[in-house]
Amino acid sequence: MTDRYAVIGNPVAHSKSPQIHAAFAQETGEDIEYGRLLAPLEGFSDAVKQFRAAGGRGLNVTVPFKEEAYRLATLHSERARIAEAVNTLRFDAGALYGDNTDGAGLVRDIRDNLGVAIAGRRILLLGAGGAARGVIAPLLAEDPKDLTIANRTLERAEALERHFAPRVRASAYAALSGSRFDIVVNATSASLAGALPPLPRVVFAAGSLAYDMMYGRGLTPFLEWARGQGAGLTADGLGMLIEQAAESFFVWRGIRPRTATVLASLRAA
Ligand code: NDP
Repeated sequence: MTDRYAVIGNPVAHSKSPQIHAAFAQETGEDIEYGRLLAPLEGFSDAVKQFRAAGGRGLNVTVPFKEEAYRLATLHSERARIAEAVNTLRFDAGALYGDNTDGAGLVRDIRDNLGVAIAGRRILLLGAGGAARGVIAPLLAEDPKDLTIANRTLERAEALERHFAPRVRASAYAALSGSRFDIVVNATSASLAGALPPLPRVVFAAGSLAYDMMYGRGLTPFLEWARGQGAGLTADGLGMLIEQAAESFFVWRGIRPRTATVLASLRAA
C-alpha cells in the first residue's frame, strides 16, 4: 500500500515540497504519496491527529507550526531538542517522533552544493526565529572560527547567545558596522516582505558567501545589498529546501535521495 506523507502549514499552497518528494520517490523507487495539508491556525494538533488516524506516515511542518510541532512530538532527535523546533514528524508505533532537518539542509547546500567551506570561517547569522535556531548547532558542528547572531529584537539574539554559550555572540545590527565576515546567512523573514534587515556597512572577506534562506525569482533585497558590499558569491535558499527535504526523506524511508537533478530542474523552472 502507498505510504502517505504531506507538508502541513498555513499558508501551504506555495510549497514546493510535494514536487520535490515526488521526484525523490521516483528516483528511489519508494512507494509514497506526498500532499499539502492546510491546518487552521488554532487547529494544528487536530490536523496532525486526523492525518495520522487516516493512515498517514509522516509530515513536514512549515510556517507557523514548527514550535508547536516540537511541543506535540513525544520523542525528539538531538538536533530538534537543541532547536526547540520540529520540521519533520514521523508516526512511529507508540511515539510521535520529531526531528529538525533545516540545519543539515543549509550545511549541505553551503558546503557540498556551493563548495564553500564553513570550517575556520567567520559567520554572521541574521535573525533569531525558528529557522535561525534550527541551523546554529549544525553550523557550529562544522567548526567555524566564530558565529555572530544579529537580530532586530536584540533580546532574542542574546537568549541564543546564552543557550549556545560560549560559542555564539549576539550583536545589534548597528554594532556590526565595519565587521568582516566570510559567510552571511539571512534567516530573517524580511525578504518575504521585500524588506532588508537594518544592516550597516560590513566587509565581505575575499571568497565570501551571502546566503538568503528565502528563495524565488531574482535577487532578494538582501542579496542585492550583499553584492553592493562586495560579496563574492550569492545564493538563495532553494538548495537548502531540497537538501532538508532529502534529509526528511531519509528520516522516513532510511534512503537518501540524490538531490542534484531536482535542484537543477527547479532552478530551470
Ligand atoms: P520567524 O517568524 O520564526 O522569525 C522571523 C525572523 O525575522 C525574526 O528574527 C525577526 O526579527 C526577523 N525579521 C522579520 N522581519 C524583519 C525585518 N524587516 N528586518 C529585520 N528582521 C526581521 O521565521 P522563520 O525563522 O521560521 O523563517 C525565516 C525565513 O527563513 C523565512 O523567510 C522562511 O521562508 C525561511 N526558511 C527557509 C527554509 C529553506 O529551506 N530555504 C527553511 C526554513 C525557513 P524579530 O525577532 O525582531 O521579530
